Amino acid sequence: MEKHYLMTPGPTPIPEEIIKTMARPIIHHRTPQYLDIVKKVNEDLKKVFKTSCNVLTFTASGTGAMEASVVNTLCQGDTAVVVRGGKFGERFAEICQAYGVKVVPVDIDWGTRPEPSVIEGALKRYPETKAVFMQLCETSTATVYDVKSIAGLMRERETILVVDAISGLGADEFEMDSWGVDVACGGSQKSLMLPPGLAFCAVSKKAWTMVRRSKLPKFYLDFEKYDQLVDKGDSPWTPSITLVIGLQRALSMITQEGVDNFIKRHKADAEFVRSFLKGLGLGIYSKFPSDAVTAAKVPHGVDGSELIRSLKAKGVTFAGGQSQLKGKIIRIAHMGGITREDLKAALGKLKEALKEQKAKV
Ligand SMILES: *Cc1c(COP(=O)(O)O)cnc(C)c1O
Repeated sequence: MEKHYLMTPGPTPIPEEIIKTMARPIIHHRTPQYLDIVKKVNEDLKKVFKTSCNVLTFTASGTGAMEASVVNTLCQGDTAVVVRGGKFGERFAEICQAYGVKVVPVDIDWGTRPEPSVIEGALKRYPETKAVFMQLCETSTATVYDVKSIAGLMRERETILVVDAISGLGADEFEMDSWGVDVACGGSQKSLMLPPGLAFCAVSKKAWTMVRRSKLPKFYLDFEKYDQLVDKGDSPWTPSITLVIGLQRALSMITQEGVDNFIKRHKADAEFVRSFLKGLGLGIYSKFPSDAVTAAKVPHGVDGSELIRSLKAKGVTFAGGQSQLKGKIIRIAHMGGITREDLKAALGKLKEALKEQKAKV
């Protein structure tokens, strides 16, 4: 069978050794064997988030971590500044609204990033703001945001910064503690090389003071329930044992390579993809391209959806654009288990497909 190239920004391909690890017979979670695995996983997760804070693991897709970061920190009627620069920024706003949190939207053009001065302006106009919500990588536009500078604004304030780092974590540079991020969300199916199903929240000391005053309804995703057990390697409900065991394998691969080397490899792969696309005469959509995923502009005269269909027939799955970007961009992930060889093969097919569509390449 010919290899199929899954190049979407989630799910991403799973390396063979992780698949094999997860194929072993299941074990019980209240055993010393499993608790040791979780303790190791928790230590390694801290290295990836670059934090000394606990990282809480939920059985959920990434959105579960986003929802957890809202319901655990806020009260009904609280004000939150939410960056809306794509689908995932919109999702944070929708979650806040679902729970009666007042949203101050910071709407930016898709493909751009929120400038710190704009966030600062919103905080000055709404000094009662309890939290700022933003992405590290806004996957729908393949844009990396300047989390470090925006975190810097929060240091002197009581407002917390919540970052959806689900697609950026492990690919784009991210340092929870030294930058001063308060809640960082992660997910299993991006750079962490696993199937969907695990969501993570790393929670700072400053965020914990908000957690204790938070009154939004919560049960399954209640931070306090998880935090009480995390040091023992335990969890309040049956964990996704298989995925956690896979995660141990994934994290040991990442820490063996070194988290910084892992990130550097993503940067090099991202640069390779961007320069290949430019060589084909394709523009890069984002003004601030992420190292997790690249969005290429579909050239004039080419139907973007048709291009994606024809690539699928060639064994390559790229993601298209969502909402206003439908048919206008193709998104190529270069994260986690996607190798340089995969990228070369997939981009070769893209060149072929474009030629067939008689684009001027
Ligand atoms: C993938 C992703 C999510 C999570 O989406 P789920 O479908 O719930 O896993 C959240 N935010 C960003 C930026 C993402 O890329």
